[in-house]
Amino acid sequence: MCRNIGNIVPAYGEMLGGVSAVVEYAVLALNVRQIVVCGHSDCGAMRGLAGTAPMTAEDMPTVNAWLRNAETARSVVQARNVGRDQLVQALVEENIRLQLMHLRTHPSVAGRLAQRRLDVQGWVYDIGHGRITVLNDENDQFETVREARERLQQRALRQRG
Ligand SMILES: [Zn+2]
Repeated sequence: MCRNIGNIVPAYGEMLGGVSAVVEYAVLALNVRQIVVCGHSDCGAMRGLAGTAPMTAEDMPTVNAWLRNAETARSVVQARNVGRDQLVQALVEENIRLQLMHLRTHPSVAGRLAQRRLDVQGWVYDIGHGRITVLNDENDQFETVREARERLQQRALRQRG
């Protein structure tokens, strides 16, 4: 378990920090079979990214720098002209897609994915309703846990048959 502001996984590259070490250790030493990147509704980090949180870049330069790892999600959501009331939820969801992409840039993850020894999933936890939605990697939309379970069971059957 690795928790941080904005459920961020920095992409693999020159700057390697704690999250990258956790990913590598979990995959190569602990042989985890599944990695879940989990965001949540009304996320303060995503509100910061949306510009609706009380904090500013000047107040919190380090948090601001960390959130650059989610900047691409903001760019995508901005391009879609999402309404003001939908903005934070759209960022929460787009940030999950982005961090899953980042996760796949880690050599340990890419290697195990290629061997089909690892699965990655994106979840959003809706705190108000106590519900989880799962990113469907076929249509890129979020679906209920029941829908995700059925889809993944079908896939497992196809792969076996
Ligand atoms: Zn949060």
